[in-house]
Amino acid sequence: MKTGTAALAVVLLLATGCSGNGDEGVASARPTDGGLDSARPSEEEKAELSPVSTPVEDSVYPDIGDPGVDALHYGLDLAWQPTKRRLDGTATISLRATGDADHLQLDLGPRLKPRSVTLDGAEVPFEHPGKNLVVGASVTADQEYELVVTYRGRPGPVPAPTRRGDFTTVGLTVTNSGGLWTMQEPYGAFSWYPVNDQPADKALYDFTITTDAPYTGVANGELVSTDTKDGRTTTQWHLDSPASSYLTTLAIGDYQHSNGRTSGGLTVDYWYSRGAPKILKSLRRAPRAIDWLEQKLGPYPFSTLGLVVTPSQSAMETQTMVTLGTSDYVLSEPVIMHEIAHQWYGDLVSPSDWRDVWLNEGMTMYLQGRYEADTNGIPVAEQLAQYAESCRSSLAEDGPAGAYDAASFGAGNIYYCPALMWDELRKRVGDDEFWKIARSWLDDNAGTSASREQLYDHWEKATGLELSSFFDSWIMREKMPEIIDP
Ligand SMILES: [Zn+2]
Repeated sequence: MKTGTAALAVVLLLATGCSGNGDEGVASARPTDGGLDSARPSEEEKAELSPVSTPVEDSVYPDIGDPGVDALHYGLDLAWQPTKRRLDGTATISLRATGDADHLQLDLGPRLKPRSVTLDGAEVPFEHPGKNLVVGASVTADQEYELVVTYRGRPGPVPAPTRRGDFTTVGLTVTNSGGLWTMQEPYGAFSWYPVNDQPADKALYDFTITTDAPYTGVANGELVSTDTKDGRTTTQWHLDSPASSYLTTLAIGDYQHSNGRTSGGLTVDYWYSRGAPKILKSLRRAPRAIDWLEQKLGPYPFSTLGLVVTPSQSAMETQTMVTLGTSDYVLSEPVIMHEIAHQWYGDLVSPSDWRDVWLNEGMTMYLQGRYEADTNGIPVAEQLAQYAESCRSSLAEDGPAGAYDAASFGAGNIYYCPALMWDELRKRVGDDEFWKIARSWLDDNAGTSASREQLYDHWEKATGLELSSFFDSWIMREKMPEIIDP
């Protein structure tokens, strides 16, 4: 997710001068990091990531998700009636039970009413108190099951655990014209489908979205088919990389489609409201940001990439289909770049627990700062100088990045402090070594959700340095460490 409004002024200032016209500037400013294999991974290599996960109970939001379920695949058949604002859904969920139990539990918002539940084809009893869908069926550890839930309702968003100004709710939001969009960090996918809504549980997805023409449904992954019949349009989407539920997206509106291409040959799809050419101009800046990111982090890690523009006020790194709002700030080049950077740091490797959301935002904010320094033609240290002030003030207001106030999700602490931490580590180990290890972390953990302990181990093994106290000084302390000279 992009930075919140508390940090908005700083980022707007940083953005000035680099979100202008055309394609000049960045290509010539491209860094020359050593040792990067720029070969794009084959489709076979990308398709190898397993959806088998190690679910956990979240330490920050323990009421969301259930570690008894390891979802492997969600087949979501969603019919949306714009005039009635009604969603009819069938979720076919392949899952692994992680232990012997007399029930299964998923999250499903109270505005959606389950109508029937079957397990491996047999009707099973269920209860739906609050947002918990409790299925009364005995399951055995490591056995796989197919759970089918049909449900219906008039969905809406749920309160977000945040004090940010750019969003107060998460989940599915219906627009005034009967379209809809979703954003759900740290949770809220349960406002539109039954789900184990905690980021340690990754799964594959297929979406079938039917709505009234001319509206079109957009979701994660590859657009497999579009079919319009009797005034109804059905789109099918296939996501071939395992995703945490907060990284799924659904947008329904009067969309038109265009695309661009990176210099490495990756097609970037643009989905935006009909008759909005100004938005398309902003989206067309994405390929050069991807070219720059590939020099730092290696080839774009997934088989497809799209950007969908919604009436949101925020921006979200939804996997392979970034969800953007319409403001000039959200459509600025640094914010678009930030959300695409998350495809590596956040999506390919996700946090297993929300206490470690800084794993996403620290590196992404650091990359954003370096990108802005490159595009503005100024030293990195000058660009990052403004981060220190934001880090200090957010530490005072919201606590350390790795132990933040649960009611203040997404504050500046998880962005600026760990971004500065990464630059300090780069100064210690040198540029080549730093980016090599930043990439090997992704290679070693691709398709999984990881913890800070794994990250500490990775960097210590790769550098031969004892780094736990260094990391903790940035992640767990209430006072910002000193910056060493560049
Ligand atoms: Zn972010």
